[in-house]
Amino acid sequence: MNKSIKNSGGHIANAIIFPMLIVVLTSVFSIIGLMHWSARLSDETAEDSQQKLVAGALQLTQNYIVKQQTGVVIWDEAYREVNAAAPDEGWISNNMMSWLSQNHGFTRSVLMGPDFNVLSVYSHDKNTRWMSDSLIEELAPAIAKVRARYITSFHKTPSGLYSFMPPGGETHLSIAESGMLSLSGEPYLFTAAAVVPRIQSVIAERRPPAVLVSLIPLRGQKLDNISNMSRLEGFVLAEGQADRNGVGTFQLDSPRGKDIGVIAWQASQPGTQMLQRINPFLAVAAFVIAAVVMAVTVFTRQMTKRLARSEAKAVHAARHDALSGLPNRSSFQALLTDILEESAQNGTNTAVVYVDLDHFKDINDTLGHSAGDQVIVAVANRLKQVIPVDGIVSRISGDEFVMVLRNCENDEWLEYILDQIQDEISRPIKIGRRELFASLSMGAAVAPKDGDSPDELLRKADIALYDAKANGRNRRSFFRPTMEQHVQSKDKMSRELRLALKNDELDLAYQPQSDTDAKKIVSVEALARWTKEDGTVVPPSQFIPIAEETGLINDLGIWVLNKACARAHDWPGVVVSVNVSPNQFRHPRFVEKVMAILAANDLPPQRLEIEVTESVFAGRDDSVLNALRRLKSLGVKVALDDFGSGYSSLSYLRRFPFDTLKIDRDFVSDMNGNPEAEAILVSIIQLGKALGMTIVAEGIETIDQIRFLQEHDCHRMQGYFISKPLNSKALSQFLDDFHAVSASEFVEGLGFKAGGSTA
Ligand code: C2E
Ligand code: MG
Ligand code: MG
Repeated sequence: MNKSIKNSGGHIANAIIFPMLIVVLTSVFSIIGLMHWSARLSDETAEDSQQKLVAGALQLTQNYIVKQQTGVVIWDEAYREVNAAAPDEGWISNNMMSWLSQNHGFTRSVLMGPDFNVLSVYSHDKNTRWMSDSLIEELAPAIAKVRARYITSFHKTPSGLYSFMPPGGETHLSIAESGMLSLSGEPYLFTAAAVVPRIQSVIAERRPPAVLVSLIPLRGQKLDNISNMSRLEGFVLAEGQADRNGVGTFQLDSPRGKDIGVIAWQASQPGTQMLQRINPFLAVAAFVIAAVVMAVTVFTRQMTKRLARSEAKAVHAARHDALSGLPNRSSFQALLTDILEESAQNGTNTAVVYVDLDHFKDINDTLGHSAGDQVIVAVANRLKQVIPVDGIVSRISGDEFVMVLRNCENDEWLEYILDQIQDEISRPIKIGRRELFASLSMGAAVAPKDGDSPDELLRKADIALYDAKANGRNRRSFFRPTMEQHVQSKDKMSRELRLALKNDELDLAYQPQSDTDAKKIVSVEALARWTKEDGTVVPPSQFIPIAEETGLINDLGIWVLNKACARAHDWPGVVVSVNVSPNQFRHPRFVEKVMAILAANDLPPQRLEIEVTESVFAGRDDSVLNALRRLKSLGVKVALDDFGSGYSSLSYLRRFPFDTLKIDRDFVSDMNGNPEAEAILVSIIQLGKALGMTIVAEGIETIDQIRFLQEHDCHRMQGYFISKPLNSKALSQFLDDFHAVSASEFVEGLGFKAGGSTA
């Protein structure tokens, strides 16, 4: 069972935990992924704007150097010198290029003539070898742009001449061109501008200008300026791409698109920084989530395990009897159905055996319910041990068990098994320091011979059990069709009894009870009589148990009481005793009914005696004893009948203050010459007397019995020797005769004879 609990608990736990884990992990990874993605996005945006800053700073610097160059290119003298038929190279070098070098740091310059010829080359270190064809080639697009802009700034006037009208009016800026190039691996900023007079006159013919190109190294102060303008840290010039994390770069290209290096800086990465800042918190959060998930997992596993365990327990409890642990009635039905189907297929016999513990009620009543429970458990365990392994035992109610035995070969086989069971049960059962001896009555029905449905087999096994009990206990019976007839005849009898009661076909006989001197009849016991229409006499030992079983006893009892009380007036001074079954006391208004009957018949309660047997002590509730107490307090006498016939516990005598103790006739008949029986009888008489009870001996049949009782001061006698039960008329006659004859004559047997017919 434990393994299956574990499995089902595990399945439930997995069904909850896995989806939960998936949801939690997906959420956690999604959040982390989203944060990284947004950090990266923010880093990219920041880098983009940093690149724009660098581009802007570079552009401003280029504009600035263009302006610095303006002083030497928009100059009438320079224009004149440059456009002279034989330009003075020394003048140009000194006044234009050297001036730019000294004042603004343009370390190199070159002047290109209108025909794309090099007019002058300058270097601050006098080394003019830096000029090369490839450099001219590199500069050509910029120079061409300047020349084109210059020429197109002249617009034809109506007079056919050209007038200078540059776009925006700013000559130098609109015409000049700036950019970057590399000289011997070093990056330079350059500015190219046309050499023009301060005031442009109207000209007849448009001619390309001379263009001055000035270079300034892109490092040192210039680079610092760009760095300051763009407010970026760690600004450096690098040769190829520095594609590293945390480094921002700006690509520098020549006019012809040649890679001349990169500007690199320490990029600010707000996303990465944010991540770095929140990473510890993320780690803590992840740890907390992991801990919570772990805790929830463990908790869920435990809860589901507990749930599965209690579910399994509930299922087990629903199918098993709590006390013995055996399958209960409902699960037994299912088991039996399966076994019967199986045996029908295999063609084998199956025995269904009803088992009832003999006198279990007495054990419960005398030793208490805890002892009763221990007996049930002991019997259950022994039944389990002794039946064949493939058989089953079930407890279906209080002291009733049912066994199913498969492959029942024949009656001998079954008898052998049941013998073993009876042997096993007959071993003493230890309850504390006591040893109890239990016995079983068993009734068996065998499938398919006696039936094939569970209900039919159980019913027939029950009939067989009833038969076993009826024939004395500690026996077993196998179902025979005649038993069913017997049950049917019982049904028939109960129907007839009901009718007899209704049609007033019952009668009462009265048996007198005298004092031991046989001088006086002190009371009469009313005994029910039933003679059927056909004249058959049904003895009370047959119809009273049936009336009790069917509940008819209530109506019958009231009828007897009514009749006896009504007749009592015929026998003044004589107490009428009426037998009352415990079932009658269960009627909630029994005491009121008795009092109403007494009142209706105008009989004082002292004239009525109620006879009960020790079975009134059975059962847990004290309702019967309470009713008896009320009757006694109202004046009705109460007698304990048949003392000595059943379990006869002396403790009963203490539990209720009976007025009368009637010693059973078996006891009296045992007495004859048997010293032990006599000793017991004497003790009972003395005990009863000590408790203040009137002692009546029943079943007096001989004069010796009377003498013995007289000797031991028994109070009263009842029995055939005095009189058999008589009908009412005969009783009246008897009473007259009895009182007329002397007691001594009677005792001597001198002709006294009970009058009237016996009933
Ligand atoms: P019980 O109350 O012990 O009644 C005494 C029984 O002993 C009567 O049997 C009576 O005829 C019989 N008896 C009396 N003297 C002698 C004797 O000297 N020798 C022998 N062998 N028998 C003697 P009965 O009338 O057959 O009644 C049997 C039982 O039926 C009664 O035993 C009583 O328990 C029950 N019973 C009878 N009438 C009623 C009734 O109206 N209500 C209830 N609840 N039970 C009744
Ligand atoms: Mg009686
Ligand atoms: Mg009796």
